[in-house]
Amino acid sequence: MRYLVISDIHGNLEALEAVLADAPAHDAVICLGDLVGYGPSPNDVVDTLREVDRSVVLAGDHDWAAIGRVGHATFNTYASFALDWTAGSLGTDEKEFLGSLPVRAELQELTLVHGSPRDPVWEYLDDAAHVSPCFDAFDTQLCLVGHTHVPLVITQQEEGPALRRPAPGETVLLRGEQRLILNPGSVGQPRDDDPRAAYGLYDATRGTFEFRRVPYDVDSTQRKMQAAGLPWPLAIRLAVGL
Ligand code: ZN
Repeated sequence: MRYLVISDIHGNLEALEAVLADAPAHDAVICLGDLVGYGPSPNDVVDTLREVDRSVVLAGDHDWAAIGRVGHATFNTYASFALDWTAGSLGTDEKEFLGSLPVRAELQELTLVHGSPRDPVWEYLDDAAHVSPCFDAFDTQLCLVGHTHVPLVITQQEEGPALRRPAPGETVLLRGEQRLILNPGSVGQPRDDDPRAAYGLYDATRGTFEFRRVPYDVDSTQRKMQAAGLPWPLAIRLAVGL
């Protein structure tokens, strides 16, 4: 069984389409949330994911904010502006779909969340202090997370969790019963100084997780953002992966 693992698409249709075209054959799709926010194509992204067969799609903080389930207080000015624009642009069906998404799911040996297993919507797993308590917050061997927009491998060890950034294209071998938290990075707004769309391919049969990157037409996304009147710094950052 092979899973395409995507997260943090953020209304970037060009990046999502590039990932779907680049992905090797897979049996199912896992989306770890934040379908919308920041980007200019929220409806197209939601509709694309609604039509993907055999998918598990979670909600993230931007999805909840875009449908009014949470306020904008924790978002910065640009993010908040984009959320208002997204809320005004989303269709009724698309809002309903976002509102129906779970924030946590289990799939055989996988626990799936957007942020962290102890705080699925909001917590950022980007340092050992936040990660340490999290291995007690899920029971499966693996946990897949998004939210930080940075690919990450977190290994549970006796002396505490080990965090490291995987190289683009790296394949991590899952060993025995070792427990891991893995973040595939962001499809639509990478923040690790690499503008290419990031995603993962989890092969449950072989016990491998591949961290993949694919370039997409950033210019086209930027032009759409400009036409929509979205903040220009949100467009600029796409070109550098910030
Ligand atoms: Zn996000």
